[in-house]
Amino acid sequence: MKFETRAIHAGEKPNLKEGGSGDVAKPIHLASTYAREKVDVPTAGYEYSRTDNPTRDALQERLAALENARHGLVFASGLGAETSLFLTLLQNGDHVVAFDDLYGGTRRLMTRIFNERFQVDVSFVDARDAQQVAAAINERTKLVWLETPTNPLLKLCDIKAIAELAHRHPGVVVGVDNTFMSPYFQRPLDLGADIVMHSTTKYLNGHSDSVGGALMMNDSDLYARLKFTQNAAGAILSPFDSYMILRGTKTLAVRMRQHQENALAIARFLEKQSRVNRVIYPGLASHPQYALACAQMSGFGGMLSFELDSDVEGAKRFVEALHYFALAESLGGVESLIELPAVMTHASVPPEERRKIGLADGLIRISAGIEHIDDLIEDLEQAFSKI
Ligand SMILES: *Cc1c(COP(=O)(O)O)cnc(C)c1O
Repeated sequence: MKFETRAIHAGEKPNLKEGGSGDVAKPIHLASTYAREKVDVPTAGYEYSRTDNPTRDALQERLAALENARHGLVFASGLGAETSLFLTLLQNGDHVVAFDDLYGGTRRLMTRIFNERFQVDVSFVDARDAQQVAAAINERTKLVWLETPTNPLLKLCDIKAIAELAHRHPGVVVGVDNTFMSPYFQRPLDLGADIVMHSTTKYLNGHSDSVGGALMMNDSDLYARLKFTQNAAGAILSPFDSYMILRGTKTLAVRMRQHQENALAIARFLEKQSRVNRVIYPGLASHPQYALACAQMSGFGGMLSFELDSDVEGAKRFVEALHYFALAESLGGVESLIELPAVMTHASVPPEERRKIGLADGLIRISAGIEHIDDLIEDLEQAFSKI
């Protein structure tokens, strides 16, 4: 099956057997527990809904199929998925190597909880250079954590090269947060990563009305350990949200194509504006890692950032003047969103760290929605007159 077909059929086959209802869409199984006839035999394998739930199982199968993975697990949020992964792999005294330009919440989880509370060391490196990742690995390293492209500076790292270098050290797991590209444009497991993580809140659900997270992997032993944590720590995704994301993934391919088309058109428009100093989008030839973007991804996604030729106040006036771009955190929904990372999504990153990675106070991030591009461009044009 091709991607678009898997996105509709994987995990959601109508039950046409005797007693089956033939539902074309997977029902939402709300029961918390499952009755059995005999003490020793759970009915259809289900015992208690934290452990296994039919709607959640369907989504896990769907997401695994989309990432070309053998296994999938879903959690209450993207950070819930990361917490469950870190609890599974890490303990006191272990070491993690991570990209220095991570999603702010991931960085906070690593530093404020796993480092401060559980003494897990984290080295943040510029993973655009694979050698810097390799050089930071030591005998205590258990995890290399990557995001590509990063948020909001859209820096890329070479998953294949880093996985090869990291796997020279037995026992090091390479994880990739694939939220920005979605499996439609990038499949890290095919490039050598061991585990892929998603905030399903973003493109996979795609409609800004559900919070969730996922982990996909091929290794059955790693899967068994994570499945144990999913049940033992309990950060599961609800049946309702599982249904929402199953529904969202059916249109992932068509949405991603439109997100990308709009993002590219907006990036080209912004490049021509005299009040714009810099546009960052992996699909522009001006992106310093354009060649890697073309090699590693099958598209460039719907996220872009730019710097206005103005101070923070001018940037605030610009984003507040827009009509169709909602001024909001998050991304990946059908509606266009805009935000100022330094004061919103990345406010938890210390100012000196923001300066180090190149995140200017006036940087503006756009999540291009799938509205008509003419309306979006017209909206941006009128906002330029308000700076
Ligand atoms: C949103 C996001 C997360 C966190 O996911 P939640 O669902 O909000 O917990 C992690 N990584 C990236 C890249 C994100 O955009």
